[in-house]
Amino acid sequence: MSPDTRPRRGLRLTLAAAIAMTAALTAPAAGAAPATSRDSVPVPGAPGLGDPLFPLDGNGGYTVDRYLLDFDWQAPKTPFRAKATIRATATTELSRFNLDFAGNTLHEVTIDGTPAEAVREGDELIVTPWLPLPRKSTFTVTVTYTADPTQIRHRDDAIEDYGWIPTPSGTVLYPQPNGAKMVFPANDHPSQRAPVTFRVTAPTGLTAVANGRLVSREPLTGGRERWTYDSEQPVSTQLVQMAVGRLTAVDRPTTNGVPLRDFVPDELVDRTDEYLDLTPQHLRWLEQRLGAYPFKRYGVLVGDTDLGVALETQTLSLVPKADLLGTRVDAERTLVHELVHQWFGDSVALRTWSDLWLSEGHARFYERLYSEEHGGDSFEAAMKTAYTNHNLWRRDFGAPAEPTEPNLFKRMRYDGSALVLYALREKVGDETFRKIDRAWVTKYRGRTASTQDFMDLASAVSGQDLASFLRPWLYGPTTPPMPNHPDWVATPVP
Ligand SMILES: [Zn+2]
Repeated sequence: MSPDTRPRRGLRLTLAAAIAMTAALTAPAAGAAPATSRDSVPVPGAPGLGDPLFPLDGNGGYTVDRYLLDFDWQAPKTPFRAKATIRATATTELSRFNLDFAGNTLHEVTIDGTPAEAVREGDELIVTPWLPLPRKSTFTVTVTYTADPTQIRHRDDAIEDYGWIPTPSGTVLYPQPNGAKMVFPANDHPSQRAPVTFRVTAPTGLTAVANGRLVSREPLTGGRERWTYDSEQPVSTQLVQMAVGRLTAVDRPTTNGVPLRDFVPDELVDRTDEYLDLTPQHLRWLEQRLGAYPFKRYGVLVGDTDLGVALETQTLSLVPKADLLGTRVDAERTLVHELVHQWFGDSVALRTWSDLWLSEGHARFYERLYSEEHGGDSFEAAMKTAYTNHNLWRRDFGAPAEPTEPNLFKRMRYDGSALVLYALREKVGDETFRKIDRAWVTKYRGRTASTQDFMDLASAVSGQDLASFLRPWLYGPTTPPMPNHPDWVATPVP
């Protein structure tokens, strides 16, 4: 949080303000005992969690226990009624708090059923309750709004378009990095996770799908149906998925106890079947290295869109159709990459956006390792190329763990970060490297972890100080020598 970004209150005199004013006017005279103890003075929740790259993302003063999202979905680019019901717990006594919320048309905010003052400032929704919320109290915020499914933002890096992505028959979501707030009011930071229940009504004949388990499917009057999904496990807002469209559910054989169900645009089922049938093989290959898959189910949502990039939305990866209509090698690279993320990035969540190298580096590392074993390019050759370019990438995109907001999803976070893991493997040997990664996804399963946590764990598992080895790889201006490859040269940058 930076102090100069604190929201200003709206000017209109609200009931809460009137109560505060009355309290001030009737307060005991100076010298009298204070009416409340010091630690129970209500304070505003911070407008952001102070992430170095996105300081206003996420919010302070409370944690979300559960989201219940009601979407009365109509048609691909048609606004529709929506309601978010957010159960949260105050971590301090709150005079007000923020939600991240962008675009859409706000109607009403209530807290525990009572209307609350709500002021919008940029992507912040500032909510002031009737009375302060006591520390440790649980409260329920409802936000009703008209959702705008045409809202898209753009980044000039690997993300490209994010937010709502329309398809010919519906929509898919691309919330990474902070586009969930375009879909629902949220505590929108990767370190903040909560279970989500989705209740989506849509015209009969279309399919709605979201993270987790289909709880129920009910016919409604007027040619509509309601689909209810439960994420089952907490999910970061950047990894939420909700899609509607002419989709066919395709079950693959349950693999190592994990049910596999893909959602494919009807007309693409035959054309994508061959590659999507490989998921059981991918899952077995990854479980051999990383241990048990961390969620209760998995599937691929094929995006009927020109979207350039796939996304590891939790338990249901979004993969653009183009990735499945080319060569097998390319398709498998994408499919394995997103599946790896279920361990790295989804199960083990990012503490801050500067930890992204851990998630993208591992996804690229195993993607290339798998690909080399299955007809793709040489892993070592790719790493040698990355090494050659590494100083250049440092200059242009920041060191692996030193991104800036504009260069976050540039090449340094992918091959440039896989190279750090490759260097680690060269340093400690394959057996120890496997132990480190396995310990990482086991110890931090379902938790949030940082770069420092990774350095500490790698050191503990290997019995040597790997922080002093990794730090120059991850931070600073110059790429260190590659262990075991004295002939590799990182092009110097003047
Ligand atoms: Zn990735």
